[in-house]
Amino acid sequence: GSASDENDVVIIGGGPGGYVAAIKAAQLGLKTTCIEKRGALGGTCLNVGCIPSKALLHSSHMYHEAKHAFANHGVKVSNVEVDLPAMLGQKDKAVSNLTRGIEGLFKKNKVTYVKGYGKLISPSEVSVETVEGENTVVKGKNIIIATGSDVKPLPGVTIDEKKIVSSTGALSLSEIPKKLVVIGAGYIGLELGSVWGRLGSEVTVVEFASDIVPSMDGEIRKQFQRSLEKQKMKFMLKTKVVGVDTSGEGVKLTLEPSAGGDQTTLEADVVLVSAGRAPFTAGLGLDEIGVEMDKMGRISVNERFGTNVPGVFAIGDVIPGPMLAHKAEEDGVACVEYIAGKVGHVDYDLVPGVCYTHPEVASIGKTEEQVKTMGVEYRVGKFPFMANSRAKAIDNAEGLVKIIAEKESDKILGVHIMSPNAGELIHEAVLALQYGASSEDIARTCHAHPTMSEALKEAAMATYDKAIHI
Ligand code: FAD
Repeated sequence: GSASDENDVVIIGGGPGGYVAAIKAAQLGLKTTCIEKRGALGGTCLNVGCIPSKALLHSSHMYHEAKHAFANHGVKVSNVEVDLPAMLGQKDKAVSNLTRGIEGLFKKNKVTYVKGYGKLISPSEVSVETVEGENTVVKGKNIIIATGSDVKPLPGVTIDEKKIVSSTGALSLSEIPKKLVVIGAGYIGLELGSVWGRLGSEVTVVEFASDIVPSMDGEIRKQFQRSLEKQKMKFMLKTKVVGVDTSGEGVKLTLEPSAGGDQTTLEADVVLVSAGRAPFTAGLGLDEIGVEMDKMGRISVNERFGTNVPGVFAIGDVIPGPMLAHKAEEDGVACVEYIAGKVGHVDYDLVPGVCYTHPEVASIGKTEEQVKTMGVEYRVGKFPFMANSRAKAIDNAEGLVKIIAEKESDKILGVHIMSPNAGELIHEAVLALQYGASSEDIARTCHAHPTMSEALKEAAMATYDKAIHI
């Protein structure tokens, strides 16, 4: 059918929230149209987020390993060099293959794809200015807003994507900066700081708060910060940027302690602003049709992802909850399940978080600080990768597994892993929490040897009893 026929579901935004909702809706037999302004599917995540950043993290890690780790394994290489255009090219190829893959999935599932900017003109009509410059109205019994988020600007710091870049610019710098200053020590800043640090930039991270990644378990965070410092990343915590001067060749930043005090200056060739992301609702017609938003500009929804306007739903980064691709996808599936008359569910307490640096840090459930605040009695079991045979065999044994369980019942409350591939290892723990498992359940599950996963088993043993190998 064409986009102007009435749809069961119209989705504005083709990111991980929107495109997954579109495919799921079509699979449930609903006539579905997805509107995307970017000219490519996959949203922030695929085009300028998760995927290109992981491509560069991998390439830069390979370079770094070739330079610094191969020799330990008896692999001799000489003249290891970075070919930046080729590195960026492999990233771009990965992105374009994947976006085209989603277009293929749309065709396969009979989702109508409209390229253009969507604006709600009623609770069942979206006017679209197409990328070709035409206007059309797409009608739907249900509308899902999946417009995601955008870079949050920092007052007084103008992003030009050359000297002062957002994460988007930092994914395609044409030269390796000698000095890179990262403003904001969150996941994105640390990941992109790592990329350029490995390629040779001197990286300084300026953070307003007293800690890097505040959502992380404190004990893990300390070890993580130490690890990044060993990789020569510098941190200036409790520090704010109060002035930016781009009149010279590079950038001169004026800094001040967050609490106020004497100013200092810091020079950089490139400054990355990664001080958070903001929901994107510009030009969407929300005020006109009366969709309620909260103080942070996020669309308010009920447990069925419905807004206050009947027939209008919202999912992903544009609503409250963790601003992560996999959360947006879960929202998308649950939302269309409700629309199709089924039941969906997303537990925001069980969304894993991963920082894809080296080592990676992955976590699920509560941090020790959160458990303390809850006032429950708990036990902690830890196991260092230094005592894990696989990690030692491959000479990559930094990090640990930390499990927090309720003392009385042994039910697992949180798991935190710092290690290479922690982002893969965490899912056993995610499943455990999803099923309300105890640490003994993990400990008594046979794990293959020799694997990094054994560290999780041993940490589980240490939670209610004792580990074997330490
Ligand atoms: P988005 O992906 O932002 O998609 C929204 C889409 O809607 C966009 O394509 C936009 O063009 C379109 N749109 C907006 N308004 C309109 C309109 N009016 N009409 C038509 N189209 C419109 N998350 C992870 O889980 N793992 C990671 O490793 C990770 N790494 C990241 C790295 C970086 C550098 C960045 C910036 C983000 C990263 N994220 C990561 C976050 C992740 O990208 C987001 O959480 C995710 O993309 C949110 O999905 P979404 O569908 O809600 O929105």
